[in-house]
Amino acid sequence: MSKNATFQEIGQVFKDHDSFVVVSHVRPDGDAIGSILALGHALEGIGKTVRYLNEDGCPESLVFLPGSEKVEISSKAGPVEVEVAICLDTAAHSRVGEASFAIVNSAKVVINIDHHISNPGYGDFNFIDDSSPATGQIVYNLIKALDLPLSEISRDSIYVATSTDTGSFQYPGTTQQTYEMAADLVSLGLNVGEINQLTYDNQPFRKVELMRALLNALERSDDGRVAWWHLTNETKEEHQLIADDTEGMIDIIRSIKGVVIAVFFEELDEGKIRVSMRSKDKCINCSELCGIFGGGGHALAAGIRMTGPLEVARSKVLAKIREAINSSL
Ligand code: AMP
Ligand code: MN
Ligand code: MN
Repeated sequence: MSKNATFQEIGQVFKDHDSFVVVSHVRPDGDAIGSILALGHALEGIGKTVRYLNEDGCPESLVFLPGSEKVEISSKAGPVEVEVAICLDTAAHSRVGEASFAIVNSAKVVINIDHHISNPGYGDFNFIDDSSPATGQIVYNLIKALDLPLSEISRDSIYVATSTDTGSFQYPGTTQQTYEMAADLVSLGLNVGEINQLTYDNQPFRKVELMRALLNALERSDDGRVAWWHLTNETKEEHQLIADDTEGMIDIIRSIKGVVIAVFFEELDEGKIRVSMRSKDKCINCSELCGIFGGGGHALAAGIRMTGPLEVARSKVLAKIREAINSSL
């Protein structure tokens, strides 16, 4: 992995240029959207021109974030003249998606800010901190270190980015600094009750239908250590699901007593399968397991996009999980 740039070096790039794009990974989650909004708005606050891009736009579940209306779908963004592209929360260069990739490559300078252990450091300037539970927390540190303006948009976005990536400040990666940061955001006027309700207690009914379908598909290994379920294109059509609807569902099976690894297999278009994996034991590393199939992520949460069909992908992945569990016993 290449050496990290300092915040000061990144700050110098900000000073030396005027036009920026902030971009994040395909099928963006709260950390992806929150991080681009928070940093982009801080840059706007010092007079920079910023465009907010994502391959899939802003998911319906995050449109409550102020400033989210600025997020454009890369393939519909038209010509983008840009000096600096900043990739946030994006473990691999290609994870920005095809149209975003072309825009990032047209920039003079690429900055890569992320917290995925598998990130190879593909930027001209990289800041990868795998001890940070969310990219939003790195963005907060960067904004503070460079004394950039922390507007209400940045404040709320950093909170949602970090809350969603830490399972509401619960996962083991949550640090003392995470809580101190949250306290600072509250002192800046963040309305905790309101923002948590908008983030977590606002589910469209079709997501409850999805939950029902997933529970019907739940399977568990004989020893109860592995739990998995799957989602077919047929079920997606039946309930008119959108891509973002599956976000967070895996936490339901992760929470089962005795389960060490939870896996979610989802059919995508063109015969592809999306795999989401969670571990509750640091001896079983999801990022390494997913890496076997070309995916990546964090030790306790990672993913893969692989070729199907579903049954084949599932048996291959479950076999590797079984090997990892057996060798860790
Ligand atoms: P997910 O299961 O989609 O919520 O992803 C869990 C974590 O792994 C997130 O931090 C993702 O950014 C990362 N991740 C998911 N899929 C991939 C992939 N194909 N390559 C690299 N990282 C991934
Ligand atoms: Mn993410
Ligand atoms: Mn993240």
